[in-house]
Amino acid sequence: MDTATIRWPDSLWAAATPPGPALPELIGTAKADVVVIGGGFTGLSAALHLREAGVDVAIVEAMEPGWGASGRNNGQVIPTLSRPDPEDIIARHGAAGERFVALLRDSASVLFDIARRYQIQAEQEQTGWVQPVHSPGRIKIAERRVRQWSKFGAPVELLSRDETRQMLGSEAWFGGFWNRTGGHINPLALSRGLAQVVLDRGGRIYARSPAIAVERWNDRWIATTEKGEISGRVLIVATNAYTGEFSKSLMPEMAHEVIPVLSWQMATQPLSETARTTIIPGRQAMSDTHGELYFARYDARDRLVTGGAVLGPANKPERLKALVTERLQRLWPQIGPVEFDFVWNGYVGMTTDFLPRIHRLGRNAYGWTGCNGRAVALSIALGDELSKAVRGVAEKDLALPFSDPAPLVAHGLLRRLAPLMLMVYRRRDAREIEEGELGQPYPHA
Ligand SMILES: Cc1cc2nc3c(=O)[nH]c(=O)nc-3n(C[C@H](O)[C@H](O)[C@H](O)COP(=O)(O)OP(=O)(O)OC[C@H]3O[C@@H](n4cnc5c(N)ncnc54)[C@H](O)[C@@H]3O)c2cc1C
Repeated sequence: MDTATIRWPDSLWAAATPPGPALPELIGTAKADVVVIGGGFTGLSAALHLREAGVDVAIVEAMEPGWGASGRNNGQVIPTLSRPDPEDIIARHGAAGERFVALLRDSASVLFDIARRYQIQAEQEQTGWVQPVHSPGRIKIAERRVRQWSKFGAPVELLSRDETRQMLGSEAWFGGFWNRTGGHINPLALSRGLAQVVLDRGGRIYARSPAIAVERWNDRWIATTEKGEISGRVLIVATNAYTGEFSKSLMPEMAHEVIPVLSWQMATQPLSETARTTIIPGRQAMSDTHGELYFARYDARDRLVTGGAVLGPANKPERLKALVTERLQRLWPQIGPVEFDFVWNGYVGMTTDFLPRIHRLGRNAYGWTGCNGRAVALSIALGDELSKAVRGVAEKDLALPFSDPAPLVAHGLLRRLAPLMLMVYRRRDAREIEEGELGQPYPHA
């Protein structure tokens, strides 16, 4: 990939967001106490929290902060995973899983608090997050989530069909799961804002500097780029679904434990005042229970930011526009004609069990991957938690359920086949699904 001239995706966020700080490339030799590879939410949050603790930290970013998933996503701030609920997480990870559940529970509030504390203008709206259910049978998902998250102290509620209709301005759903700590942001503005805060607090960020490889030498980690190298006592690998994009030799075992799937995002023209006041009038962020996910939120200019999925490469944006126009008009007949100004995409890192993977990557090295399309809030919270690990907080006090990297067999083949799962989700969506064999949201918001 050519980093000399950075081409941002044709996204709403790239068009609407003021430029980020001017950043140098890594040229020659540099040193830091902690080297972070990747300048998305995880890397930026880790660096910010490390600087607040007085730790010398440098980020090495392949392109610019927010160039990966963090600047391309739907911006929904969601304090849950996509499918696993607290009991699934704890069954897998025990006491560390319990601490992780608490981290997840608080993650949306943590994100909004950070934006407030550092006065980051990211068009943030803490209006809540709703997961409406698309069939009477799927109310079981909402009931289970409310039951489990209530047990762990999350401010969640079950919405009746009528309450859901009022909240969303649509007859399409049958009830829902509601968490008022969620909401939405402009994710590229948050990425750039965090980058500025890191710099203001004395952190360093090198841009246009893909790390080609890392090695451990003389008790230090050394990351090599095309024009330089940087060494650190500690290494954080924060490249997530983009781990294999710039170098096949950067942590291949991490790159191969997730399947990067392209998720398509779209933004309509600003809605009319009449449409806006009847479609999600309270401006909540919404992602429903379809396997082929329906999701939407407003941006600050009253565009609906949504998305969809179609198979096959030909003419994809135009086919997506037709598909999603029909969907929006079916969900909200009052919307009138729909025009899209932006269509873009980004990689979501999917795992086979929809749980994230968090690793110690040797002595004094950490990393995570496997966002499964639900980690705007989580990656910010994990950045803080990784900074605590670096500062020597005992493992028994960390909300980091560590596991060893487990690369998938036939990763290349799985990556090619993964988009076909859309057909499976469509079939499942079309029929009533019993608890225990619930569909999984297609990569999404
Ligand atoms: C289209 C889309 C929609 C989504 N919608 C939502 C949503 O609405 N809500 C939600 O909760 N989650 C959503 N997600 C998931 C969320 O965006 C991610 O979980 C989150 O942004 C991950 O942040 P990160 O910092 O870990 O990774 P990233 O933001 O991907 O950052 C990784 C960075 O590493 C850099 N990098 C890669 N390789 C190298 C290298 N060799 N050297 C140096 N740097 C390198 C990349 O350039 C990139 O900037 C979505 C994801 C996508 C793609």
